[in-house]
Amino acid sequence: MAWTRNVLRVNLTNKTCIKEPLKMEWAGLYLGQRGLGSKYLAEEINPKVDPLSPGNVLIMATGPLTGTPASTAGRYSVITKSPLTGTIACSNSGGFIGMEIKNAGWDMIIFEGKAPSPVYLYVENERAELLAADELWGKSVWDADEWLHNRHQDPLLRIATIGRSAEQGCLFSGIINDLHRAAGRSGVGTVMASKNLKAVAVRGTKGVGNIKDPIAFMAAVKAGKKLLADAEVTGEGLPKYGTQVLMNVINEVGAMPTRNFRDVQFEGAENISGEAMHVPRKADGKTNLVTNAACFGCTIACGRISTIAKGHYTIDNKPRYWGASGGLEYEAAWALGSDTGVDDLDTLTYVNFLCNEDGMDPISLGSTIAAAMEMFEQGVIGIKETGGIVLKFGSAEALVKVAELTAKGEGFGRDIGLGSKRLCEKYGRPELSMTVKGQEFPAYDPRGIQGMGLTYATSNRGACHLRGYTVSSEILGNPVKTDPLATEGKAALVKAFQDATAAVDSAGLCVFSTFAWTMADIAPQVAAACEGKWTEDTLLQTGERIWNLERQFNLAAGFTAADDNLPKRLLKEAAKTGPAKGLVNNLDKMLPEYYQLRGWTDQGVPTAETLARLAV
Ligand code: SF4
Repeated sequence: MAWTRNVLRVNLTNKTCIKEPLKMEWAGLYLGQRGLGSKYLAEEINPKVDPLSPGNVLIMATGPLTGTPASTAGRYSVITKSPLTGTIACSNSGGFIGMEIKNAGWDMIIFEGKAPSPVYLYVENERAELLAADELWGKSVWDADEWLHNRHQDPLLRIATIGRSAEQGCLFSGIINDLHRAAGRSGVGTVMASKNLKAVAVRGTKGVGNIKDPIAFMAAVKAGKKLLADAEVTGEGLPKYGTQVLMNVINEVGAMPTRNFRDVQFEGAENISGEAMHVPRKADGKTNLVTNAACFGCTIACGRISTIAKGHYTIDNKPRYWGASGGLEYEAAWALGSDTGVDDLDTLTYVNFLCNEDGMDPISLGSTIAAAMEMFEQGVIGIKETGGIVLKFGSAEALVKVAELTAKGEGFGRDIGLGSKRLCEKYGRPELSMTVKGQEFPAYDPRGIQGMGLTYATSNRGACHLRGYTVSSEILGNPVKTDPLATEGKAALVKAFQDATAAVDSAGLCVFSTFAWTMADIAPQVAAACEGKWTEDTLLQTGERIWNLERQFNLAAGFTAADDNLPKRLLKEAAKTGPAKGLVNNLDKMLPEYYQLRGWTDQGVPTAETLARLAV
């Protein structure tokens, strides 16, 4: 279904749930999900608001294609102001809850204010009510999910909930839906906790409808699915290995951040790779990977379902981890693995399960522990601070202990829950934090993939690969191969990826579809579903409009061009091995051209002409 044209506004302070019409003039400009949610947020809050105060707003938004038969169209996004970065935040998740919200008849749910005591939102089509969650508070994601299914006696209820880490104030807590899909980054779960909102439980039975031209839509959808099936990455690589297909590839090109970005290649990469997940273990003869899995309507099915070997030290006497659950994706495997120097696949799977169970972003968790490990090795912190944990790179046991403490908000885990930037500042070593705008880096060292340095520096939600994945071009050659070690042409490449991604995120599609689809393949699907004129050009312009809207929000929040930067390590310390040996990231060669291409001043501010051209 395209837009339902309905917004559910939930005022937690007053305990009201009110239906209001979607602002269609904004939908025409910002499409849906990330774009439209960002527009609502920018209009409704003061950009300088304390993210954890009742004045912040949390928006769960679907795209016009969410819930339709289009492949990968099961997405939804959570938009708010981030407590980790202070920027605008938008975290995107798959699974089934986005589809369910749409089937219940809502384009978005806006949460404002703060409940006086814990509540959850129950939605059954038109019916929406806030119910007491005192019994739920303090429960993990998995326990809360079970409690809600039992309470409502409905196995098809779709649930998004926070875990204990968010309740404890961990600044990188996400919102987990369907047990192991996550709106993971930027602390959106921490905002939800600050509102005393534990969960959202949705049942929608209204079905699919409101497609502008159903025959044209199904023809475009069919053509899109064929492209996904025929392409090597989406038809073979991702279903077989998941995003973990990247582990060995990125390591070989020397862009695998290792031990807090001290190195760019990890000697243990093969042990924690997608290929390793298929190899029978010595311990029990079974493979880590049980099967692949798909989000709603997705024909790629990149998800991993995994087990840990019976008897593994991490799960001794913990029967709840003896079954299969959402396994390692590449970003989690990297952050928990090579960044901490740990190469035990089952240990990483366990910590990933913990992240799902208690709602932590594994990228920020692993990266923050890596920064703590470096400070421990340098003697900046010791066992007095860690509570007796010998926090050395490569120590699987230390990784597990600290992750468990962070999940519960206890001991040194409270320090880790601050995130890398605040942790390193607390102990007087801010330069050891591998972050941009306070958000931890994902799994691509920008000394070996130059365009990613510019992507990180200019990302509107802090360091992120999902705001412009130039790895696709620089490493995988999609849609055209560019030299990862060159800076020429990267400003234009980054801008093009950023704008296209914003449009894909706003349509309700998964960004992984773009390994096979260009905007020429997406435009017919959007055009057939939605009223208005949706072409390749208008979609890209919509993406550019969204990017500028997000930028305007951040500037109003107090960010400046000085924040479009990278940690000194990546600009001054050359890569020691691999194809990028001897190179640093040359951000200074790309940034001025990027500002110019964006139509911004040399201080990174959109000009009046740019804002008028885009109707921001
Ligand atoms: S490609 Fe993977 S993450 Fe994206 S919708 Fe499909 S299964 Fe979900």
